[in-house]
Amino acid sequence: MKKILLLGATGSIGMQTIDVIEQHPDRFVLVGICANHNTSRLNEIIQKHPSIQVVGLQREDLAGQIEFGKVFTGNDCMVKCIENVEYDLLVNAVVGFVGLKPTLTSLEKGKDVALANKESLVVGGPLVREALKRTKTKLYPIDSEHSAIFQCLHGNAKKEVKRLIITASGGSFRDKTREELTDVTVEQTLAHPNWNMGKRITVDSATMVNKGFEVIEAHYLFDLPYEQIDTVLHKESIVHSMVHYQDNAIMAQLGSADMRLPIQYALCYPERPVLTEDNPLDMTSTLDLHFKKMDYERYPMLKLAYELGKKEGNQGAIFNGADEQAIELFLQEKISFLDIEKSIISALENIPYVENPTYEQLEQTDRQARAYVKALWC
Ligand code: NDP
Ligand code: MG
Repeated sequence: MKKILLLGATGSIGMQTIDVIEQHPDRFVLVGICANHNTSRLNEIIQKHPSIQVVGLQREDLAGQIEFGKVFTGNDCMVKCIENVEYDLLVNAVVGFVGLKPTLTSLEKGKDVALANKESLVVGGPLVREALKRTKTKLYPIDSEHSAIFQCLHGNAKKEVKRLIITASGGSFRDKTREELTDVTVEQTLAHPNWNMGKRITVDSATMVNKGFEVIEAHYLFDLPYEQIDTVLHKESIVHSMVHYQDNAIMAQLGSADMRLPIQYALCYPERPVLTEDNPLDMTSTLDLHFKKMDYERYPMLKLAYELGKKEGNQGAIFNGADEQAIELFLQEKISFLDIEKSIISALENIPYVENPTYEQLEQTDRQARAYVKALWC
């Protein structure tokens, strides 16, 4: 039995992780859960899983609503859970910068991480890489593109890889020109054509910040230079990504737009037990697939991600921090859709570069980036 500690249990990935765990009661046992504020959902999970030993809640003021003995609260709640329970695999499915510390803490404890929180690598890639090497722990990707690549790499030598090809749906506005983006609404932005996800990543898909994050994520997960990581537009989101080998074979992984497969693969690797999906991919009825060269003029955030990814240092922390803050303002309808890009570009131009940041320096950069964007508009 694999003991699972799940961060971000009440979110989109978190709930689907619980579904995978519940589909395999012979394999998994849930020993801990954390969330930000959704106490009613936490209570439902606690009732269904008497195996839970630790519960974390960021919002201290709501802790009284949780029907459980001791609840860890505040900014350290996830780290406290990691330190206070025995587990085999951490599933990190929180959103944002806050995911980095728990990833590092788990690796230091010698425990592998199934990673949905891409911000861990975007912000702290070099720190995570160093911790993995030193502690001999492993990361298992949950992001669908990276899971696809991980599956396509299985059984082949890395030196035989020519390039990774990450597919991009194009997000909510893929049929709009840049001129047509000036007055798009929050509601339109949150209507992703293919995936049902948390708000932040849905906005990031529309700006392509998400694909930029994924390029950086791939660089650290698979230890390949940016020159070997490509992106291609593929509006159906059926081919989840590909690996192009030196002999020109291109391996692809196909599936429905359902995160439970990548989650299960990360939890069960290298096994593939039965998975029940709502709409499993039917090769005979759905396959009309399109691939188009990436348009960097249309999606400047993706181009920017390649540039800042190569610079390393605190660039990812500025990129992510500015984006998180700008999205918050956009969702509150205080800034426009295109102001998200402007916030990121301006923050990157104005916040000083730090070459080999410690965790504390990344935290400081994150605060700086948020304050910078707030001051820019409010
Ligand atoms: P959601 O917004 O749906 O869920 C976020 C989860 O994190 C919630 O459980 C939330 O709790 C919790 N949380 C937020 N802040 C804190 C905090 N400070 N302390 C503790 N818990 C916190 O996000 P998603 O599930 O969509 O995304 C999670 C991660 O997975 C992101 O990094 C995203 O980029 C990545 N990802 C998501 C995909 C998807 O299909 N959704 C696909 C690929 C990657 P609460 O509910 O109480 O607010
Ligand atoms: Mg993805």
